[in-house]
Amino acid sequence: MQKENEKGLVIVYTGDGKGKTTAALGLCIRAAGYDKRVCIIQFIKGSWKYGELDGIKKLAPNVELYQKGLGFIGIIDDKLDKSEHIKAAGETLGFAKEKMHSGKYDIVILDEINVAIHLNLISVEDVISIIDNKPESLDLVLTGRNAKDEIIERADLVTEMREIKHPFQKGIKAKKGIDF
Ligand code: ATP
Ligand code: MG
Repeated sequence: MQKENEKGLVIVYTGDGKGKTTAALGLCIRAAGYDKRVCIIQFIKGSWKYGELDGIKKLAPNVELYQKGLGFIGIIDDKLDKSEHIKAAGETLGFAKEKMHSGKYDIVILDEINVAIHLNLISVEDVISIIDNKPESLDLVLTGRNAKDEIIERADLVTEMREIKHPFQKGIKAKKGIDF
C-alpha cells in the first residue's frame, strides 16, 4: 500500500491496569481495515503461548507478529541467567530497528518494550534513539507498564491504564482468550 505522506505518531500504552497489549492489538484490526501493514514485535514474552499468535494470522498478510525474548524474567519458571535475557532483548531491539526501516510497514508495535527497559535489559537511551530516528511517516507504538519519563516526553499519545478492579485480586486465574 502507498504510504500516506503524513507524520507518524509515537503512541505509548502504559500503567498497571489491564489492556495495554489488548489496545495495541485492537489498533491492528482498525489499521488492517485500511489495508495498512503492521508489524508487532513482542519483547519478553518468549515461548509462551498467547492467543494473539494465532489470532493475528487471521489478519495476514497485513499484520505480522514476532515473538522474541525468552519468557518471564526472574519469576515463575525462569532458569536463565539475566545476561541471556539481556542478549535476547538487545537482538530484539536490533530486529525492531530493521523492521522499522524496511519501508514495509505503516505501524510498528513494540509490545512490552517498557518492561524490557524497566528491567535494564535494554537502555532507555537506545530506545530514545530509535524513536528520534524513526521514519517520518511510521506510527510507532510502545507498550508495557513503567514507561520512562523520557519516553513519555517524546510520545504524541500516552494512555495510562489504571487498575480499578482485576479478577486476580479475587484469586481468579488468567483466562484463555481474555488474558492470554
Ligand atoms: P493484556 O495483554 O491483557 O492487554 P496488559 O498488556 O495491559 O494486559 P501486562 O502488564 O502486559 O498487561 O500483563 C500481562 C498479563 O498480566 C495479562 O495476562 C494480564 O491479564 C495480566 N494483568 C494485567 N494487568 C493486571 C493486573 N492489574 N493484575 C493482575 N494481572 C494483570
Ligand atoms: Mg502487555
